[in-house]
Amino acid sequence: MTPREVAALLAYVVKLDPRLALDDATAATDRLAQWCDLLSDVPATAHGWDAARVARDHIARSPYRIQPSDVSRPWHTHKADVMGRHVGTFEPTTHPEVDPDDQFGNAYVKALRAERLAIASGQQAPTTHRALTAGPAAAEVERRLAALGEYMPPTVAQALALYRPQRAERERLARADAPDPLTVPCTWCSAPEGEPCRGRAINPRDQQTRYRPRSKPHPCRVEDATAAHLARHNRQEAHA
Ligand SMILES: [Zn+2]
Repeated sequence: MTPREVAALLAYVVKLDPRLALDDATAATDRLAQWCDLLSDVPATAHGWDAARVARDHIARSPYRIQPSDVSRPWHTHKADVMGRHVGTFEPTTHPEVDPDDQFGNAYVKALRAERLAIASGQQAPTTHRALTAGPAAAEVERRLAALGEYMPPTVAQALALYRPQRAERERLARADAPDPLTVPCTWCSAPEGEPCRGRAINPRDQQTRYRPRSKPHPCRVEDATAAHLARHNRQEAHA
């Protein structure tokens, strides 16, 4: 797991077991560093594996506070089991590019994509990963998710959603194939594409004007994005 994924996992387990919350920032930093170190060779998600689910199951079952080893030990058992038992993402003969010790590197992501492709084309039964449905809408959803940046396992994205509400909202809109106001600039406040709308605040003491990002886009931007979204869909239908 990358440090970001470990941080997300920690945020998630603290939410499930508030005893794990730390008031002291230094202690929290130390714990994050320790978890990052001990979970660096454990993926967040893999074929039949979900670190967040393992952590949740531990918290649900055990009276003891969760330790990094409660996630890493099941991972090593799972890996040995998968590699010994059947053909999966980590089978070296089907995916020789995957280094089993570097499953969250590029090779892992590539293998995961190949697997999703195999599922989508019906060569493989869907297991832990959901395949997108076919058709122009699915392609559009994929294009928009790709434009938003790197692929992130859904559980990690959920844990992080709390800390990046705007990104979470954009991903939600993309998945629902709904208009995303941030795909167009705002004609009201001149916020460029991809940036949130801004509101003006005047400081009563020095009369200085400040601009602050707004959590909601201006209504005219929502209208523009809806029109652009409809136009794109009409074009796709005309081509289909
Ligand atoms: Zn605006």
